[in-house]
Amino acid sequence: MSLLDTMRDTALVAFWNQGVKLARAGNVHIDEESDEEIVLKVRVARVAVPFTVHLWPVDSDWSCDCEANQEVCAHAAAGVIAWVARQAEPAPTPERAPPRRMEPGRAPCKVGYRLTTSPDGFRVERVLVRLNQDEPFVGTLLGQARSGAGAILSTDADIELEEAMGRRFGITVERERVPRVLAALELCPDRTLDGKPIAVSGEPVLPIARIEDDPNPANKDGFRVRIVRDPGIETVFRNSAVLCEGVLRPVGTGGLSPNQRKVFYQRDGVSFQPDEVEKLVAEVLPALKARLPVELRTTRLPDGREEPPRLVLETREQGDALIVRPIIVYGDPITARVDRGELKVTGGRVPVRDRRAEDRLRQAAHEKIGLPLDLDRTFHGAGAVRFVDRIGDFGGDVIGEAWKRFRRARDIQPSVQIDGDRLNVDFGGADPTRVVEAWLEGAELVRVSDGWAPLPTGWLEEHGHLVADLLAARDAGGGWPPRPLRPRPPRPGARPAAAPGPGRPEGAGRGL
Ligand SMILES: [Zn+2]
Repeated sequence: MSLLDTMRDTALVAFWNQGVKLARAGNVHIDEESDEEIVLKVRVARVAVPFTVHLWPVDSDWSCDCEANQEVCAHAAAGVIAWVARQAEPAPTPERAPPRRMEPGRAPCKVGYRLTTSPDGFRVERVLVRLNQDEPFVGTLLGQARSGAGAILSTDADIELEEAMGRRFGITVERERVPRVLAALELCPDRTLDGKPIAVSGEPVLPIARIEDDPNPANKDGFRVRIVRDPGIETVFRNSAVLCEGVLRPVGTGGLSPNQRKVFYQRDGVSFQPDEVEKLVAEVLPALKARLPVELRTTRLPDGREEPPRLVLETREQGDALIVRPIIVYGDPITARVDRGELKVTGGRVPVRDRRAEDRLRQAAHEKIGLPLDLDRTFHGAGAVRFVDRIGDFGGDVIGEAWKRFRRARDIQPSVQIDGDRLNVDFGGADPTRVVEAWLEGAELVRVSDGWAPLPTGWLEEHGHLVADLLAARDAGGGWPPRPLRPRPPRPGARPAAAPGPGRPEGAGRGL
């Protein structure tokens, strides 16, 4: 059974008859047609927007977007009747144009919009488009029964645009109407600007909030927030619309308050010091992001994976002195340090400061190592070694290698060898002159290759003077022996050294 027969059998007679009338009156327009699907517009008096009917002949099915609670409404009936009647017409021959089914004046028309640039913005003219020809549009869509234009295949968007324009066309669109007009125009496909097809979108073009490293040297390591124009904007219309990447769009403010606009639109924007990064990230940025596209031109903003501050000990070396300074830092590797309360950015991300945690660390520096923050403390020799002994109690990271050279080394095993006229004194790698000097100064520790070792005091009490003389002799001439060795008086407070025997010292050559 054909689709026509099926629908006629299903339809109530009253609706079917109404469909016949609509079809005969030429109120049906075939929009699209393929083997599977036919889309038709059925115009009904006093209804501005035609109904859309779909026919699926293969499936023997159909639909209509009206609200009639009928399997076959009058529009679906009109649709199938008109479609079948159209098929019955003789097929067009290739040599000749298809015969016109209707006179030009009676052919259904669509609505088109002709935009032109005007001194105050852009103007919108509305036309009827019949067989690809523009005709003047007289009257309004809602009052089209009186317009005498014949069948107008208008859409909801055409009606909405008529409302948005205040039912007045051919005028420059007022600024406050632009957003609604462009939103409706976006859904009206036949539109041109100054004679050329134009893409339209109701989505406002917003200014961009740009966040960048502050170029102002007075705000080193700081940030700057500025509101800048969308770089895609090609043409600005004075009624608050723009051509942005070829699309006509309204201009939006993103809902920034006049006060915010005043502040952020300044050419130099608003500066944030490194210390203020928390305010920037936690307050300003979310507020801007809620309203505007945000362009991040810096990679230094904290990313929400912040680590708490930590206490570290900077160490450096100056001769036999170890210089230490406890500081509070952020990041691992370090990206910033707190110097006398001020955040100094050293590279990478700027952290969000946690001042309560900083206070706790300040306290810890005092309690654990007895040192105030941010101040150098110099420890000499054995004092440095004793400080390094306690460095494990500190618990934090120690920066620099200097401190490692103040660790305690193992005991020195001294040996003296005389090889012909050469003197070899070995204090386990330590400089013999330093060992002897340290001993003469009454020191307890001496620097060796891998740290500081206790002086071999007992051995030195016995042989120190001899070694001192040997060294002095070697330094003076290098020969052995340049002059007779003589015993030295014991140092005050030191126990008497064993006097060496005459001639070669006892044990020399065998190692002591
Ligand atoms: Zn219907």
